[in-house]
Amino acid sequence: MSLEQELTRINVMQPWLGEEEVAAVSEVLRSGWVAQGPRVAAFETAFAEAHGVAHAVALSNCTTALHLALVVAGVGPGDEVVVPSFSFVATANAPTYVGATPVFADVDPDTGNLTPATIATAVTPRTRAVIAVDQGGVPLDLLAIRAWCDPLGITVVEDAACAAGSTAHGRPVGAGAELATWSFHPRKLLTTGEGGMLTTSRADWAARARRLREHAMSVSAAERHASVLAPPESFDEVGFNYRMTDLQAAVGLVQLRRLPEMVARRRELAARYAEAVTVLPGMRLVGDPAWGTTNFQSCWLEVLPDHPLDREQMMEHLAAAGISARRGIMAAHRQPAHGERGHAPLPVTERLTDRTLVLPLFHQMSDAEHQRVCDALGTAWRP
Ligand SMILES: *Cc1c(COP(=O)(O)O)cnc(C)c1O
Repeated sequence: MSLEQELTRINVMQPWLGEEEVAAVSEVLRSGWVAQGPRVAAFETAFAEAHGVAHAVALSNCTTALHLALVVAGVGPGDEVVVPSFSFVATANAPTYVGATPVFADVDPDTGNLTPATIATAVTPRTRAVIAVDQGGVPLDLLAIRAWCDPLGITVVEDAACAAGSTAHGRPVGAGAELATWSFHPRKLLTTGEGGMLTTSRADWAARARRLREHAMSVSAAERHASVLAPPESFDEVGFNYRMTDLQAAVGLVQLRRLPEMVARRRELAARYAEAVTVLPGMRLVGDPAWGTTNFQSCWLEVLPDHPLDREQMMEHLAAAGISARRGIMAAHRQPAHGERGHAPLPVTERLTDRTLVLPLFHQMSDAEHQRVCDALGTAWRP
């Protein structure tokens, strides 16, 4: 391998965007309608269909989707919401937006996700909801979680931010959820730059979320546009501006069509990582759970205690080969924003957050780039 190749940096993630997206955005610009409009509506319809859900409400990002999910579910001050600490901080922040308290639960070591057993340790009589994450795209067992939570009247919000294209129990992730939230940030698979979606099985919740994203206006912008003499609007509760633009939705429509191909390519590359890692001692790679398939949004590797390198040394070793891995999923309970909260011991969360790293994986990754990462993992045993 030449020095030049050696020094070419391999990033952890790159969005897969092409001329079709460029054309779609140009068309929106030429149309003159750039804010939330017909393309947002078309993206919602296509997204709902692709994910087997009744209603999809496009939003500015997944954080605002989490906020509205808790609002429509009626979560408020005095309520507790069980969340994994092992997640991007937005998951733990969301309950505080409605005046509720996040309560941290530990996760399963194989999937990095909540289970009925870990949720049970964090539930109190004040628990109103659970935000369960498909962490890194690995589907959680929503059927098992709902079977446990539904009889107790605990609403389950599936934070599927990372999981577009993953499946559970033979259906797309989110299909069995009363409420699910999605992110279209470039760090996920399907991207619109920034963007999010709230999907729900309930028509009343979808209708309220649609109003709340537009300042809780009784007459939508689309309705006003449709009539020459716009009807008077009223504002019946305090709403938000959480809208997606038609520019973003146009990109989303193209990206949604690309999603199956993106997932197939990621699974192919991840399978090759798995082959490489199986023969190496001291490492464990995330994979599919028994009930579903992951999109490998985050293809994480755990550096086990018997490996001569720890996670930080492994990242340095990879960086020396021009490979930009990332520390694994964060733990919200260790951050100053949430550090004061009492919580049960979170041993699995602490182990995974300290020992895992995310390997480079993106659609355009060449076989040579992939091989370079595999080779570097191989030499890490005796660097
Ligand atoms: C990325 C992410 C979010 C936040 O998504 P945004 O669209 O950036 O707001 C929320 N939850 C999880 C699990 C995420 O990975």
